[in-house]
Amino acid sequence: MKIDQSLLQIVIDHALRDAPNECCGVLAVRDGIVERVMPLESAKPSPFSFEIEPSVLLKAYTEIEDSGAELGVIYHSHTRSAPVPSQTDINFGERWPGVEWLIVGTKGETTVQSWLISERGVVTEVPVHISVTG
Ligand SMILES: [Zn+2]
Repeated sequence: MKIDQSLLQIVIDHALRDAPNECCGVLAVRDGIVERVMPLESAKPSPFSFEIEPSVLLKAYTEIEDSGAELGVIYHSHTRSAPVPSQTDINFGERWPGVEWLIVGTKGETTVQSWLISERGVVTEVPVHISVTG
């Protein structure tokens, strides 16, 4: 994905605000470029996982699709481990093929990594291109 530094900062700030619990949200993408951050509430706040209520995810999905963009990225944080998809993430991600998984690691130095998870649970890292405007 391509994301502006200012939008990525919103995601990182969300992760730091919710730590030690994991945060979650989605990004609206248009033409491969992130245009909007939609922070969501975890249904079960926890330092070990996140959970998005299906109705909340559907509402975000519909709102984004209605605006002509696509729900291209699901993001969450890892506060106790590296920003690499856990088995729980992979199980979730298999149901959203083509959607990138942006994970913010807040343990130690804050880092972000993005992943694609195929229907068969194959995990591939994808680059995060950060642009700076203004
Ligand atoms: Zn995770």
